[in-house]
Amino acid sequence: MKRTLILLTLALPLALGSADDKKPISPQAKGGTMTSPTTKTDAEWKKILTPEQYRILREKGTERAFTGEYWNTKDTGVYRCAGCGAELFTSDTKFDSHCGWPSFFAALAKDNVKLQPDHSHGMIRTEVLCARCGGHLGHLFDDGPAPTGQRYCINSVSIKFEKKEKKTGGSQPAGK
Ligand SMILES: [Zn+2]
Repeated sequence: MKRTLILLTLALPLALGSADDKKPISPQAKGGTMTSPTTKTDAEWKKILTPEQYRILREKGTERAFTGEYWNTKDTGVYRCAGCGAELFTSDTKFDSHCGWPSFFAALAKDNVKLQPDHSHGMIRTEVLCARCGGHLGHLFDDGPAPTGQRYCINSVSIKFEKKEKKTGGSQPAGK
């Protein structure tokens, strides 16, 4: 009597439920950038940005002169990217340009902003972008003050000011 146990392989439906486990394809290869780029889809940006931020940061819009939050700000602090939070400018390089937008004669660090030619609207300009998330910040002109002679003309909407309180009294080192 043959005891042939035929083990039937039961085809359990294991393979049916794993189709949504897609691995995202990283758009950037191994590069030498210090800050890791932030990449989001338009839909994701729309969720985290206000409509005005989206219009300017992602669609390269421009806020109307003298309407932004920071064109006349003189407080001490750091200006971060409104999209990704990267530190872009400081109050140390902000100057009163009378142009209606916050203006800086230098970026906080050259690697934090990206410059590229912009030939839109019949002009030849240099566009300033956030190096980390690619958000449109404004334009760079060469009519700024010393020491750089440059003017980063930046939309208030594209940046977030982080005020740094000046310490008043009490903490200066005691000297003899
Ligand atoms: Zn950014």
